[in-house]
Amino acid sequence: MSGQFRKDLTRRNVLAGGLAFATVGFASRITSAFATANLTLGAHDITVFSDGHLTLPMNFILPEQSEEEIAALLKPHGLATDTLTPDCNITLLRTGDRTVLFDVGSGANFQSTAGELPGHLAEAGIDPSDITDIVFTHAHPDHLWGILDDFDDPLYPEAQIWMPQAEWDYWRADDTLAKTPEERKSFVVGAQARFDVIEDRVNMIKPGQEVLPGVEAVDTAGHTPGHMSYMLHGGSESLLVVGDAISNTVISFEKPGWASGSDQDRDMGIATRKALLDRLAQDGSRVIGYHFPHPGGGHVERTGDAYSFVAA
Ligand SMILES: [Zn+2]
Repeated sequence: MSGQFRKDLTRRNVLAGGLAFATVGFASRITSAFATANLTLGAHDITVFSDGHLTLPMNFILPEQSEEEIAALLKPHGLATDTLTPDCNITLLRTGDRTVLFDVGSGANFQSTAGELPGHLAEAGIDPSDITDIVFTHAHPDHLWGILDDFDDPLYPEAQIWMPQAEWDYWRADDTLAKTPEERKSFVVGAQARFDVIEDRVNMIKPGQEVLPGVEAVDTAGHTPGHMSYMLHGGSESLLVVGDAISNTVISFEKPGWASGSDQDRDMGIATRKALLDRLAQDGSRVIGYHFPHPGGGHVERTGDAYSFVAA
């Protein structure tokens, strides 16, 4: 990666303002253990690793709700009403001779409280060269930017990379940067630079495709234009690596119809979230939410017009 890009990225991080700088005051938060939630699903062996957490202003997450509405929802859960500090959960799947990561975290250049995945993999005795496949839900910084190391070289030298075609096409399009609001232009610049580095190793995914044996791509567009979740089928059970289609165990479940400021298409994000929650409550599939409290695994129950998350 060129020095010019690095400079540009740094400058754009500064422009990102609230997102990049809201971390002050939260550095003392203790992050969870390196690897938890081991579970098996047929031939699949699943472990969830933490990449740390993000710090996001509440008016970014819930731009259309009043302070009173937000307080009424969050205070009974003991949650802060001005800031959200979502964990980042990376699913590692061992199946057959494959070792698969679903997303790779933030790397060193997004928020200072994230980017912990490489250290936690090392603690678990997993070398970057052990990773055979990386499957992306979408290309936001907290999911993609960790594909490069501190020197901006590819971090996982042996991995095949799987990316939703619509996601690739969106971030690659000539007019995406111009159409993106100023405060998120760094997302576009960051994605495009990383796409340049990984281009020769990327395989494109279509909705419904069996990406790897027992791993089905499920179209969950809305959060981003090509957002994809992945249903892991094992024995008689299934588990959805949901990514950011359902992003918070309180807000998304109790108020699935509230617009999320992190969804690039808010209306489509709502429709996708409602359909997904409905499906998961009916079929009983487990879920792992990227931003649920670490390690992020559980299942969905319907309660009247809303839903609840049962960690397990
Ligand atoms: Zn995310």
